[in-house]
Order: sequence, then C-alpha cells, then structure tokens
Amino acid sequence: MEHLVRPVYKEGGYAFARKAEDIASEYGIERVARLASNENPEPPSPLATGAAKRAIHRANRYPDEKTSVLVQGLRAYYGDYHFVAGVGMDGVIETLIRTIVSPNEAVVVTTPTFSFYSLAARAQEANVLTVPRERDFSVKAEEIISAGEGAKMVILCTPNNPTGNATSVEVVQEILEGIDGILFLDNAYVEFSDFDYLPLLKDHGNLVIGRTLSKVHSLAGFRVGYAFAPEWLVPYYQRAATPFTVNSVSAAAAAGALLDREHAERYIGKVKQWRKRFRDEVKYPVHPSDANFVMVDVSPLPGDAVVERLARRGVIVRSCRSFTGLPDHYIRVSVGEDWENEMFIGEINAL
Ligand SMILES: *Cc1c(COP(=O)(O)O)cnc(C)c1O
Repeated sequence: MEHLVRPVYKEGGYAFARKAEDIASEYGIERVARLASNENPEPPSPLATGAAKRAIHRANRYPDEKTSVLVQGLRAYYGDYHFVAGVGMDGVIETLIRTIVSPNEAVVVTTPTFSFYSLAARAQEANVLTVPRERDFSVKAEEIISAGEGAKMVILCTPNNPTGNATSVEVVQEILEGIDGILFLDNAYVEFSDFDYLPLLKDHGNLVIGRTLSKVHSLAGFRVGYAFAPEWLVPYYQRAATPFTVNSVSAAAAAGALLDREHAERYIGKVKQWRKRFRDEVKYPVHPSDANFVMVDVSPLPGDAVVERLARRGVIVRSCRSFTGLPDHYIRVSVGEDWENEMFIGEINAL
C-alpha cells in the first residue's frame, strides 16, 4: 500500500537526536550528558508547572481557540504587539507556510540552517530556493533579495542553527525592504544574544518573528511557540491553523513560564559563561555563538564519528551532517548543566 504515500514523505524527514536512555543501556553508562537538543537543562519554573496543574482540571473542555491566556501573557511581557501561537515554533512555521504559500510558489532559505523550513515548505509543494551562506556563515542581503524575487516567503534564522551566528539588524532591515513577500525571522535563540529585531516590526508589515518556549523557558515537552505578526495576518493565520492547536495545559504553562524572568536569566547567564569556556578550552576550533550551543569544527574527523565516540563515553551531541550545505566535520553542542559541560570538554579533548 506504500504507493499511496505522497512522494514528499517517501524519504528524508526530521533528524532526531539519540535518546539518553538508549545510550545509557547500550553502552552501560550511568550518567549521560544530553547536549544535542539545545534544551534548558533546568526543569520548568514552578510558575509554569503550577499553572499547568490548575489547567489540567479543566481539560474536559476544548481550549480557547485564540490562546488568550498566552497572548495576554505575551502582551504583559513584551507590550502591545500582535501574536499568533502554535504547537512549538515548528507548528507556527507550518501554519504560516500553509497560510501564505500555494503549491509551486517559492520559499527562500539560507544554508546551512534549521532543516524544518524546507520540510514544511516541501510538504506544501512549495519550491524551496537555497542561498548558501558565506564562509563565515553570514548572509548577504543582496543575494537573499535577488533569490527572493517573486518568492512568497524568505526564512532567516538568527541566531542561526547550527552555526550560532546572528545577522545584524541592519542586514535584516535591508532584506525586509528589498523583498515583496514575508520575512520570517526565526528567533528561537535570540534571548541568548544581544540582538533586538522587535523595533523593525513597527514599519514593516511583512515581518513575522518566531519565538519558542522550548529553549530558554524549559518547556520543550509542552510544545508551545508563537510569533510576533503584523495585525493583518492574524485572522488568516487563525483560519489556516488546525482548530484548538495549542492545548490548554501547554498554553497555561507557557503563560506561567513568562512570569519567571529569573528562571530564564539564570540559564542565559550560564550560557554566556560556558560559550566562552567552550571556545577557550576545547582543543578544536569553536565557532563564535550568540545561541545556547556552539558549533565545533572537528576536522579531519567526520562529525558522525565524533558523535559516536562521545556517545560511547556518555556525551550526546549533534552531528551536523544532516544540515544541507555544511561539510561533514562539524558537531553542535548545547550548553547543559555544569557537569555535562565539563564532561564534554574532558571527553572531546581526550579524543
Ligand atoms: C528549536 C528550534 C525551533 C522550534 O522549536 P519548537 O520546539 O518547535 O518551538 C525553531 N527554530 C529553530 C532554529 C530551533 O532550533
């Protein structure tokens, strides 16, 4: 019966990190350092879990389709912006593409970058155009603008996953002003940087800025993402979204998490310290990063081999082989708990 499956799903798909439990049992290791998924290693804030527990008791009812509890939380946090929400930022990206892009229309992405953009665009039968980044992984506005001619959407990740570098506000503004379609700015890691793209929203009706509760806010398992969107877009996005897409328990948890700025600040402080220590202490070249992970150049070794050797020693990191447009000798390493980071430095330097 497989002939029934759409060609786009016959192969490929998202590359998931290996499970700590599997590594532990396979290699007989007790403590496994989980540095492959860029999660905050701290459990969620008690303000998030408390709100989730209260919401569970009302889970016989369908959620509020406008996720008002989350939108109000976001307004209290950021001010008077317009928001859309989804099942993780991945869900936001998927719904936004569904709202804007018809089959055979163009979506522009830069490579190497987060793989889900092209997966989601191809699921919509869009034409994915790739613009290779420069040697230092920066982007050139004019190249994106010329590739973006006639495109419905340009997607730019800043700080970029997996390379860690951010694009300046000036370059983002130049892109915004040079394209006719929407610019989706993926800000999954912006809290770990000193970049602020929000002022661009005021004068640009084609800017959408995606954010997630999965990283700095410790809610990866709750699956909540959102985006700052121009007001005109909100009703169309809501029409395209799966009904009741963000569940009521997750929305409550997200609103609770936003109240705990200290929780986020603690991890941000740790990230800034450890990014520097990784650069100073790892014997391989570590790329400068504005995110909560670093990309390490392990050449002449292949990334996959290093990931496998570290896994045998109880350290899970991410090989960058699945990122289109990146040579095969990079790994990506998240900032985890102190012992995890120490363990990584010790093991990689012992390779
Ligand atoms: C983690 C991540 C996301 C979204 O994660 P969700 O858990 O779906 O919110 C989006 N973009 C990038 C670049 C990421 O690394």
